Amino acid sequence: MRALRATGNRRLLDGNEWNGPEMMGLSVIMMGPPGAGKGTQATRFARERGLLKISTGDILRDAVKEMNPIALAARTKMDRGELVDDATMVEIVRHRLAQPDARCGFVLDGFPRTVFQARALDVIMEDGGNGPLVIIDVTVPEDELVRRLASRRICSNCGTGADPFGSSTTCKTCAGKLVARTDDNQVVVLERLKIYQRATRPVLDYYRMRPTFRIVNGAQAPEVVARELDSMIEEASKASIA
Ligand code: AMP
Repeated sequence: MRALRATGNRRLLDGNEWNGPEMMGLSVIMMGPPGAGKGTQATRFARERGLLKISTGDILRDAVKEMNPIALAARTKMDRGELVDDATMVEIVRHRLAQPDARCGFVLDGFPRTVFQARALDVIMEDGGNGPLVIIDVTVPEDELVRRLASRRICSNCGTGADPFGSSTTCKTCAGKLVARTDDNQVVVLERLKIYQRATRPVLDYYRMRPTFRIVNGAQAPEVVARELDSMIEEASKASIA
């Protein structure tokens, strides 16, 4: 979708030890219900491995700020916690993945959310140039998700998620004001969890039998989740080429 601004940062490797197949690229899908912490883990993993992170929610929110007509049309659905239509979402991702900085792989956060989108992603990736596709399901019990979402804050200026355990009222990146997301009020949260069960859980079944599908317990401390996730991704990416 040319009209939507492409977002996502590609950063240099930070020097951490990584024994995965760097040269041939690596692509990761971070799955999980809203509030599971997949955005936090996706951002961290992408930064540490020098991969492009693509969050479809961030792309839509940025496009709304820029008054993009397609995003403005999607806004009502976003505010209600409903899914934006598949055709729009697939076009956004197809366009973003066609750019040169996605060539060595990426970390996807928030996509695919339906089986239709998962199938479309397989077609987009058919040439195999983005390296092995590792799928991670971050699981957290529902009552914990509701608790987390009720206290979640993001920066009103740059959209960065705030430290869920912190008490600051300003963003650590740009000092913008921290606010609740418009789709994090309780009615909308329950709707988003319901939609997750109905539309997105079947995506896990679509991927479950692949040798690169892994499940991480997201109810642990973020640094424990990070450690487990890193070794899972490394091991799964090797399994795919063994
Ligand atoms: P997120 O930040 O990933 O929770 O996304 C925020 C909102 O953007 C969602 O509640 C949806 O309305 C919309 N959205 C983001 N990604 C998708 C997707 N892959 N399919 C449909 N809607 C999406």
